[in-house]
Amino acid sequence: MTTTRFAPSPTGYIHVGNLRTALMNYLIARKAGGTFVLRIDDTDASRSKESYVDAIKADLEWLGLHWDKVERQSERLDLYSDAAEKLRVNGRFYEAFETPVELDLKRKKQLNMGKPPVYDRAALTLSEAEKDALRADRGTGVWRFKLDQQRIEWTDGILGDISIDAASVSDPVLIRQDGQVLYTIASVVDDMGMGVTDVVRGSDHVTNTATQIQIIEALGGTAPRFAHHSLLTGPQGEALSKRLGTLALRDLRESGVEPMALLSMMARLGSSDPIEVRNDMAALIEGFEVSRFGTAPTKFDAADLYPLTGRYLQSLPLETVADRIEALGVPSDKADAFWTVTRDNIETLKDLDAWWALCRDGADPVIEDEDREFVAQAMTMLPEAPFDADTWGAWTGAVKAATGRKGRGLFMPLRKALTGQAHGPDMGALLPLLQVVKAR
Ligand code: GLU
Repeated sequence: MTTTRFAPSPTGYIHVGNLRTALMNYLIARKAGGTFVLRIDDTDASRSKESYVDAIKADLEWLGLHWDKVERQSERLDLYSDAAEKLRVNGRFYEAFETPVELDLKRKKQLNMGKPPVYDRAALTLSEAEKDALRADRGTGVWRFKLDQQRIEWTDGILGDISIDAASVSDPVLIRQDGQVLYTIASVVDDMGMGVTDVVRGSDHVTNTATQIQIIEALGGTAPRFAHHSLLTGPQGEALSKRLGTLALRDLRESGVEPMALLSMMARLGSSDPIEVRNDMAALIEGFEVSRFGTAPTKFDAADLYPLTGRYLQSLPLETVADRIEALGVPSDKADAFWTVTRDNIETLKDLDAWWALCRDGADPVIEDEDREFVAQAMTMLPEAPFDADTWGAWTGAVKAATGRKGRGLFMPLRKALTGQAHGPDMGALLPLLQVVKAR
């Protein structure tokens, strides 16, 4: 039975980078008919906020990434203590007393000597008396997991065969001096306890994975399948982190990006499959394959989300957007015509506001000097409202016969006079919806 999890820390809003992780885990679970767990990694009580937990849930719901279960690490602290005790009993856990300043000094010395900055395990040589003295002086120490200094190997679902020399990695701190259990062990205990079979996360977690594989084994468990996706960068390859504030899902939502456009992009960006706009989750699930993702950093440009949103909207029947159109004040007998006319000319549903304002109030005409006489003459020939589907054709036909103008020279000045802009929907279809403000 496949079980995956999305494990955000509630210390901020979900951004596009987290979304990728959430989506991949969601799609794997759904494709296999398995379970998708939302795990709130809230062991850091000082940084975790309940409002972020609510925001994370709201964002996932907006996207349609529904979870089967919610788990909270803050409610599982006893299990982490039990696991820590087990490691202690098995001789895989030791207390260390170096201060951050001392550790930093050690690292600098190692780097100066051209050595990798790996914790030197000095604490392992301390006698009980020395530890007592340090405890009396400095309080409790941190607790480190004693890595087995062999190669740690796994076949990664994206990166392929990985082999990491444990001797090149510091023994990870699993419990802080203040007693707080850290993510590295909490996550392992949860993955084991919740039967997680597949873990997809960012490639910044590769070293964590190496140590976590050993911790799982030390606790008598079996490692899940791991896959590490590449990190997103900005369009020029710049680190995304600086701009993450602007890429929070709620900001994208606010700016009119549609969930299916965002999901369609994220299910494919960085993979060898092209991005295709999908209309429903089933199609996304069907077309998803984690092994098709590449290892190179993935360029992400939020600007691409708008044309994708436009393409998604174009495929929608009126029923799907009827409420939104009604809310604009479009009379119900005009809603279908309005949607049909405008949907090819919008990127987000917000753009409908301006089209409806144009239909309802008319536009300030835009008339070039050389077209002034022509437009004035044409306007005298425009029949009285209401207009129908044939009005535009009949009218422009008559104007053409009267003025001799044709093609762009005929149509463009009329479009600009009636809509105030050079681009927009088919005029024949738009005119029946349009309130005409005659050229002044
Ligand atoms: N809370 C961790 C994070 O947000 C989870 C990482 C994981 O998937 O194990 O980085």
